[in-house]
Parts: sequence; structure tokens; C-alpha cells
Amino acid sequence: MGNLFIHPILKEAAAVFRGRGKKVYLVGGAVRDLFRGQKAQDWDLATDARPEEVVAMFPRVFPTGIKHGTVTVRYKGHSLEVTTFRTESAYTDGRHPDEVRYAADIEEDLSRRDFTMNALAFALPQGPLLDPFGGGEDIKKRIIRCVGPGEERFGEDGLRPIRAVRFAAQLGFTVEDSTLAAIPGALGITARVAPERIREELDKIIAAGKPSTAFLLMEKTGLLELLLPELGCCRGIEQKGFHRFDVLDHSLLACDYSAREGASKNIRLASLFHDIGKPLTRNMDASGIWTFYHHEQESARLTRNILTRFRYPHTVIDEVVHLVSEHMFFYEETWSDAAVRRFIIRVGEEAIPKLLELRKADAYATAGIEAGGNFLVPFINRIEGVLAQGRAFSLKNLAVSGRDLQDVGLEPGPRMGIILRELLETVVDDPELNNREKLLEIAKNLNRRYTPACN
Ligand code: ATP
Ligand code: MG
Repeated sequence: MGNLFIHPILKEAAAVFRGRGKKVYLVGGAVRDLFRGQKAQDWDLATDARPEEVVAMFPRVFPTGIKHGTVTVRYKGHSLEVTTFRTESAYTDGRHPDEVRYAADIEEDLSRRDFTMNALAFALPQGPLLDPFGGGEDIKKRIIRCVGPGEERFGEDGLRPIRAVRFAAQLGFTVEDSTLAAIPGALGITARVAPERIREELDKIIAAGKPSTAFLLMEKTGLLELLLPELGCCRGIEQKGFHRFDVLDHSLLACDYSAREGASKNIRLASLFHDIGKPLTRNMDASGIWTFYHHEQESARLTRNILTRFRYPHTVIDEVVHLVSEHMFFYEETWSDAAVRRFIIRVGEEAIPKLLELRKADAYATAGIEAGGNFLVPFINRIEGVLAQGRAFSLKNLAVSGRDLQDVGLEPGPRMGIILRELLETVVDDPELNNREKLLEIAKNLNRRYTPACN
């Protein structure tokens, strides 16, 4: 492959290695992407230089994965992930690799990599390309195949089965039969993988063009039952009447739709999990129709469990759970302005566009056809109209503050908090009351009501 385009920065950096008599190769996803004629996303380099030697070669080096022999070199505005040739190390705890063990040469290093398509190395600066396992051919055929027997490779690191299905979704490749067949036997190993490592893979699945590819492969191999049983048990939950699909297919369609629309990660997660409370809330009514009353609350609870289990940051958990728990709104023209204001306050102004995106995905996945955003337009117009009135939507916009209440003799504390909330409710119902004098009077009345008679 003499025609691979090698970025000039890589050639320059390679000259630094070679100046010290060291070898350096472009490896991993970067070679894979170049091979597919795509621009590499980020650069992984493999070298015979030890991490401390790399540190001495460049002025800006960060010990980002020093336990695994990896450092990050910042070079002319680019990041290079540089890893010293490694060999497969044991995972005695099944979670993290033990101490890093260095390999003698690039061939040994390539032999410990997961898939043939990831076991290519391009000697910098001008080749040759090393391809000891036929990775180039597999990339052409769009096949994900373990380097060596799948049972062994998955047995060494239980994250690899998840990586296989992740790459399938990310690249649109097929997992080769014997590689796929080796996954069920490795589930016990996968069960012990650190949740943070799994989360990184889930994030990449969610970010893929068609996440359902990975989730369906997970279902087929038992990974879904192991990692996301809440989603797994949505299979076969039929919901005739409204929907064409069972709850699992509906969820996957919603997630794919969000991905196709380029929605943010949190919206994609919410699309995937918005209905997972349905199996637990399903009931048949007198006329033989399945009902799922309050499933959004159950979905929100399960979503929180899942995201917490995989150690998602609190900001992500809170937003996704919020979107899931609010996804069942039913706007009608007959809603009063006060009802619209209450909706805005409950959902939060900045979450509204995200909730509408989620709702579009949900609608699409119900019929499997593009419902378009049009059905939401009357509601959006209404929300915009109400927002334009500039009325109070939060305590900040209230014509009185806690300090004003103190000035007229109310004491700070929980009761003042309750009174402020009541004032906000009052103003939401009747915006005309949002003026200082009226609110102070209402506050004083409320305060009197709350004062126990014996005081
Ligand atoms: P991307 O960067 O798009 O996630 P990538 O293939 O570069 O894809 P990385 O996680 O950056 O994936 O890893 C770089 C390379 O390191 C891989 O291509 C592979 O050769 C090797 N590798 C990473 N994780 C593993 C693993 N768990 N087992 C074996 N080899 C791995
Ligand atoms: Mg990479």
C-alpha cells in the first residue's frame, strides 16, 4: 500500500524517533481508516522506545496510560498516542490488564491485538505496511475477525466481544462467524470487565451511524442479557393498538433515528431507554388492550440504574433520566397558557428542544415511517408564544426575592422556600400578579397561615 497518505506531522515526528535510533509505526484505527480511504481520527503509534525515552524525546509528553506503556505526545497542535511494543499481559482480576510487559518487536506486538483489521502497522515514514494476519483483505471484505482463535482472544480480555459489536456498528462491518460464535462462551469473562471500560464502548456504539447493529448482535450473543437485561427483556413485549413493533425493536428504531438525525449523546441514550419500563408496567385492560400506565416513571428509574451501573457522570444521568421521565406529554390546543407555562417550568427551557427531539424519535419508531416534526409545530409555536410574553418561569423572574421577604419580616429557612415556590405557582397561573406589592401581600398572608396558632 504505497499510496497511503501519511500526514506530514507524522513524518516529522517519525524523524525524531529515528534520530534516536528508534522504530515507530502507525497502528490501530488510524491505519484501518487510511486503508479504507478515510481520514484517520486519531493517531496511535507503536515504538520500541520505552515511555521514559519518549518523554526525553519531546518537550510535551503526558503519562496518559503509563501503566499500559502509553504516553501522549503533544506535537505541533496534534496528539500522538505512543505505546511501547507490548505483549499480551494477563488479566488476573478479569478487569484490568496486569503490569505491562514489553514485546521484542512489532510482530509480537501485532499478535496481541484484537482483530485482524486492527493488527496492521505502517512503518513511518514511508512503509512498508506490515499485515501478518490478513487484516487488509478483511478490511476490503468488511469483516471483523479475531487474530487467532476467538475463544482464546475473548478469554484474555472480556471487553473484546463488546469491541467487536461496537466496530460492527461503527464501521458497518460483519462479524465473521467463528468470531461471533466465540462470544457466548466468553460472557463469564465479560461479566468481570470494569464498568468504565464498557461505558466507553457503549458511548461509541451510541455515537455510531446505526447503533441497532451492535445491540442486535448483543442480543444474538447474550451480551444484551448480560449488560443491559432491562433492554433485553423488552423483546416480545408486543404493544398492538398503537405500535407495529415490540418494545425492543421500537427502542432500537428510536435510537437509530436519533443517531441519523445527528442528535446528542444524551438524546440517543434517552431514545434507547425511554420505554424500558414497559415490561414491568404492562397490564391488559377489560377490552383486551395492553396498557403501560406510568411506564415513563419506571423507565426513568431503570435508566438511572443502568447509567449509574456504568458510572456515567451525574450530569449525563440527570439529563437522560429527566428526558425519559418527561417523554409522555400530550399537548392539545385546549391547553391554557398556564398549562403551557407549567410544562415549560417542569421540563426546563433548555431541555425542551431535546425533549421534542426525543418525541420525534419516539413517533418515528412507533410507525417506522417518518412522522416529520410537523405534528409538534403547533406546540412549538405555542411554547414560543408563551415564552415571548416574558412572564415568570423561575424564581429568578419573580418580582420579589428572598431578601424582599426578609425585609417585611419573614425569616429565612425552609418555610421561606415554600412560600417562594407558592408565589411562583401563583404567578404562573396569573402573570398579572407578578408585581412586588401584590406578591409581598400574598407572602405575608401565606406566612400567617403557616405560623402555628400557639406562637
Ligand atoms: P477507535 O480509536 O476508533 O476506537 P481503535 O482501533 O484505534 O479504534 P483503540 O481503542 O484506540 O481502538 O485502540 C488502538 C488499537 O489498540 C486497536 O486498533 C487495537 O489494535 C489495540 N487494542 C485496543 N484495545 C484492545 C483490546 N482490548 N485488546 C486487544 N487489542 C486492543
Ligand atoms: Mg484509536
